[in-house]
Amino acid sequence: MTVVVVGGGISGLLCAWELSARGQDVRVIEADRVGGSVRSADLGNFVADVGAEAYSIVRPEAAMLIARLGLESVSPRRSDARLVLTDVTAPIPAASVLGIPSDPAAADVQVFLNAAEVARALADAHIPLPQSLPASLGELVRIRMGSAVVERLVDPVVRGVHAVRADDIDVDMVVPGLRAAMHRTGSLASGVQTLLEQRSGSSGVAGSAVRSVPGGMTGVVDALSEKCGAEILTGTVALSVARASDGWAVTTDHGTFAAEQVILALPCTTAGTLLEDAALADHLSQVRLGDVVVVALRVRSRALSHEPVGSGALVDRPDVKAKGLTQSSAKWDWIRAALPEDEHVVRLSYGRDGEDPWQLLGSDPVATAIADLVAVTGASDVELLASEVQPWPQSLSHPSPEHAQWRERLAQLLERAPGLQVVGPGISGNGIAGAVASVADMIARWETL
Ligand SMILES: Cc1cc2nc3c(=O)[nH]c(=O)nc-3n(C[C@H](O)[C@H](O)[C@H](O)COP(=O)(O)OP(=O)(O)OC[C@H]3O[C@@H](n4cnc5c(N)ncnc54)[C@H](O)[C@@H]3O)c2cc1C
Repeated sequence: MTVVVVGGGISGLLCAWELSARGQDVRVIEADRVGGSVRSADLGNFVADVGAEAYSIVRPEAAMLIARLGLESVSPRRSDARLVLTDVTAPIPAASVLGIPSDPAAADVQVFLNAAEVARALADAHIPLPQSLPASLGELVRIRMGSAVVERLVDPVVRGVHAVRADDIDVDMVVPGLRAAMHRTGSLASGVQTLLEQRSGSSGVAGSAVRSVPGGMTGVVDALSEKCGAEILTGTVALSVARASDGWAVTTDHGTFAAEQVILALPCTTAGTLLEDAALADHLSQVRLGDVVVVALRVRSRALSHEPVGSGALVDRPDVKAKGLTQSSAKWDWIRAALPEDEHVVRLSYGRDGEDPWQLLGSDPVATAIADLVAVTGASDVELLASEVQPWPQSLSHPSPEHAQWRERLAQLLERAPGLQVVGPGISGNGIAGAVASVADMIARWETL
């Protein structure tokens, strides 16, 4: 069977690999270069990730892919990012998931909550669990632990990581398994504890929820491109995907390609613009995607050598424009080992809740990033050595609390378009793990055809 995969990010390359391995004749159409949101940039003879820098191990899919590719995986050297609020800067509570504590009375939680707020959060253990739990992460935490836990912990973390408010995101997409664990254990705190135990083996302390590969995540793209067994056409923009008498026709700026099956491995909203089926196009356009800009800096600073904010910071403070920063040279051994003494790589990211990141960054994005770095870390001796400003338009998916219904409707619409599939993050979960899960779902459907 001939298959055209539109999009050469992780999802598209993985689809190509899976289907080539099943004997299909696969061609990948990629508008730019392979990798999509996984990309690196040269920061003065040092190559660093300027897109995804890690994969989540909260669910197993991405880790399984890394193992299948035969790649080495590494844990962060430290994973003690700070939460930076107007009145307090402190480590994100160790035993927490997306800011939700497993023990609201823990000392590192009490830094963020007053006694009454802690008491309200502890009530979660005694309030009977309703049969039906809200799909909105913010609402779920609010009804169990109270508003302060949402406002002081969960919202700042979720806005920093997923660039959207906790109220506006589907809990199953960002903390898969939490609602099921709550039903088994009877409370939010014990549900979180269960997830932490699954992640850590048994200690129940957060450890790291992410891993990466030495040399950066582009190593995953290189390995997938090499193994995928497909013809990859880079610099080829798909313009439309339409039914043809014997399957599908993918029209690109380099000609039209016929295929029996087409897989759209693109951000949903872009996928929608290619389709002539108005109902499907309209449905795909409903997924909310946010614009983000990453500013990567290579700097010299003795103060940063003391790693003042650990592995990084999630920021919710009005005088700082960045939503988060990662001190990559503190987080990853391979980066630290490759840099001379007192040199550091720091990534700052901009854009959340529909903010225009360019407006935040102003006319000199690098100067804004350095000002934010100094404000958050207190490192006043920062000397810039190299920088890269990487725009990521429409790149972070924000699956709403109605996502389960949206997926059901998508499946119905796709039934009316045999031979067409849609994969990518925001369908089966967020980030690389979600992208891999969406491909696994697609392959499972494929095998029943
Ligand atoms: C700044 C940033 C940081 C992130 N950090 C992390 C992280 O640390 N951990 C994590 O798990 N996830 C992270 N993510 C998310 C993760 O990178 C993505 O979920 C994942 O890489 C998406 O892969 P994909 O192949 O589904 O989509 P994409 O990577 O979006 O790939 C889609 C591809 O389609 C191509 N394309 C678009 N339009 C067309 C067209 N018309 N014709 C042909 N090709 C087209 C694009 O050029 C692109 O290559 C991050 C994302 C960003 C933006």
